[in-house]
Amino acid sequence: MTFRASVLTLYPEMFPGHLGVSLAGKALSRGQWSIDAVQIRDFAEDKHRTVDDTPAGGGAGMVLKPDVLARAIDYVSADDHRPRLLMSPRGRTLTQARVRELASGPGVVIVCGRFEGVDQRVIDTRQLEEVSIGDYILSGGEPAALVLLDAVVRILPGVMGNELSGLHESFEGGLLEHPHYTRPQVFEGREIPAVLTSGNHGAIAKWREAEARRLTEERRPDLLKGDPNPPANDAKPDSRQPVKR
Ligand code: SAH
Repeated sequence: MTFRASVLTLYPEMFPGHLGVSLAGKALSRGQWSIDAVQIRDFAEDKHRTVDDTPAGGGAGMVLKPDVLARAIDYVSADDHRPRLLMSPRGRTLTQARVRELASGPGVVIVCGRFEGVDQRVIDTRQLEEVSIGDYILSGGEPAALVLLDAVVRILPGVMGNELSGLHESFEGGLLEHPHYTRPQVFEGREIPAVLTSGNHGAIAKWREAEARRLTEERRPDLLKGDPNPPANDAKPDSRQPVKR
């Protein structure tokens, strides 16, 4: 089964973007995943192809119209079971656990917001799951969609050269990853830690585990408590619990 992404956007030329090069790009040309970027404006029905309007109640900016967006969503996902995501700073923050769930499914429909955002009624009626990539504001959902798809595509079967390398990344084991070293043996007077060149695989594994734990305690104590996101985000425990080693 091929993972199929449909992205609804006012800027389809932003896709596949960086996902057209390197490993993701090769996998795309091999047909291991697919992406279609759909122009929301094509679903406007008036002469000026209007996609936005002023916010009800007043205030700055514009809001994406629900009728136009609903037609676009219905067109791409009328009879399929792909999750429908809306990139949104108000959403639950994306985690590696959610990325894994999405990667194991048939694909995604992603709506990219612009301006002030989208009319609430289309979020409700089309059951859009709001997904944030972090606590900062982008000018549009497109870079967020590319970030989400990057994280998903790299773990699809056969996309990464070395299948095993994905299993030891930060977050996969509930911990940040240990530090890495490579040649030269001495760099600006600093040696590679002796244990890593000892050939003792048991000792190496122990060192890496201890370093991962030390870094996590220092930088992300929240991960050790089993909560990769601050509580304000209305956590859904099942999908956000880090996998225990
Ligand atoms: N007025 C909104 C921000 C709109 S930014 C608010 O204050 O919540 C315009 C669009 O960029 C959003 O509709 C969303 O699609 C996208 N976007 C901005 N920041 C994002 C983030 N952190 N994660 C995901 N999408 C984001």
